[in-house]
Amino acid sequence: MSGKGSDYTRRSFISTAATGLVSAGLVNFTPGKVFAQETETPEGTKEKKLIYRTIGRTGLKVPIVSMGVMNSNNPEIVQASYEEGIRHFDTAAYYQFGRNEQMVGSVINKLKVRDKVVIGTKNFIPQQRRGLTPEQSKTKLIEACEASLSRLGTDYVDIMYIHDVRDAETVADQGIIEGLKTLKQQGKVRSTGLATHAAMADVINAAVSGGFYDVVLTAINFTMADDAGLLEAIKNAAANGVGIVAMKALAGGARWPNPQSRRDYTSSTIATAALKWVLRNESISTSIPGYTNYEHMREDFSVAYNLEYTEQEKKLLSDNNIKLSMGYCRQCNKCLATCPDGVDVPTLMRVHMYAAQYANFKIARGTLDGIPARSSINVCRDCLECGAQCANTVDIARRIDELKAMYC
Ligand code: SF4
Ligand code: SF4
Repeated sequence: MSGKGSDYTRRSFISTAATGLVSAGLVNFTPGKVFAQETETPEGTKEKKLIYRTIGRTGLKVPIVSMGVMNSNNPEIVQASYEEGIRHFDTAAYYQFGRNEQMVGSVINKLKVRDKVVIGTKNFIPQQRRGLTPEQSKTKLIEACEASLSRLGTDYVDIMYIHDVRDAETVADQGIIEGLKTLKQQGKVRSTGLATHAAMADVINAAVSGGFYDVVLTAINFTMADDAGLLEAIKNAAANGVGIVAMKALAGGARWPNPQSRRDYTSSTIATAALKWVLRNESISTSIPGYTNYEHMREDFSVAYNLEYTEQEKKLLSDNNIKLSMGYCRQCNKCLATCPDGVDVPTLMRVHMYAAQYANFKIARGTLDGIPARSSINVCRDCLECGAQCANTVDIARRIDELKAMYC
């Protein structure tokens, strides 16, 4: 699984004067480019061609659509994904308390395709790394990563991410870096990474300036088209050899963000438009949509053959109602200061996404349990101060109500 450069052909170009598309966020980074999805065979017939990209300096070359395994507990979906052409599987020690890694490992080993796939996993969530000395960090990280290898049934992982990184200090943590260096020297970890869904630009910029990490797995989707700092950080990372893998590409995973959308679009349009928006950015190597059924697997993977927008997809990405009703929480933390009781609203919004949109109640519960009691949902007294504070159209008050109904 190695190679350099992009594997697709750019066959034609459109006008760069697509000002309307740029303002709608339809054209990001590569204005004017059309992405090829077919090649001519010598016999003159057309054949679909997968688009591959290389993940930064890792040399790992994968189709632009990979599988985020987090929400699936069905090994048959993992196997079907491999058979469909997916070659990169993203999991974590934290998902299903290790069973997600076990499932990925058992499928890959059953198929005997370990050398044909890229496995990325994540370790050392904030609760595990809090309050440790550098020496303790190093030791505990090595133990945690070795436990992942054991669950995956493999001698090495291709990408080992530090899970849920939210600041530059963690990126520079010498205990963690020393632990990963040891694992690399032992051949147990091929590439190192950071997974981030808050303060992403800071984390990416710190990864580039620090020079140690090979990959950043970052949240990015079309509802964040106005986040110039993040887009610049992604571009700069790619230019410096740090691979960028996209998560949350479907803006929280809602294929039907509102009742009207069911009338105006198909589920496929929402998913493919969102994925294409992310992947038309050539600084992003691949994405890890977290589908859980065959229909969504095929919808998502169809994008790996074709990045050209359909007319419906263009319409959807220009539709402000869709963007508003996605209500994607980009974990900007701006609402944190508005709560007089210090409730950790951003993390609660993530809990809501896991429960209401992913239907992944284990991750939701685990994330909720990770919030210190003094800033968790029981402290909230429904003053509604935070309700109007989100500039990104997240209906905070309603989501807190729903969380209370579920967890209080
Ligand atoms: S709810 Fe809004 S303000 Fe709060 S973190 Fe999310 S996007 Fe930012
Ligand atoms: S409604 Fe709850 S979370 Fe929001 S500001 Fe009031 S106490 Fe804080």
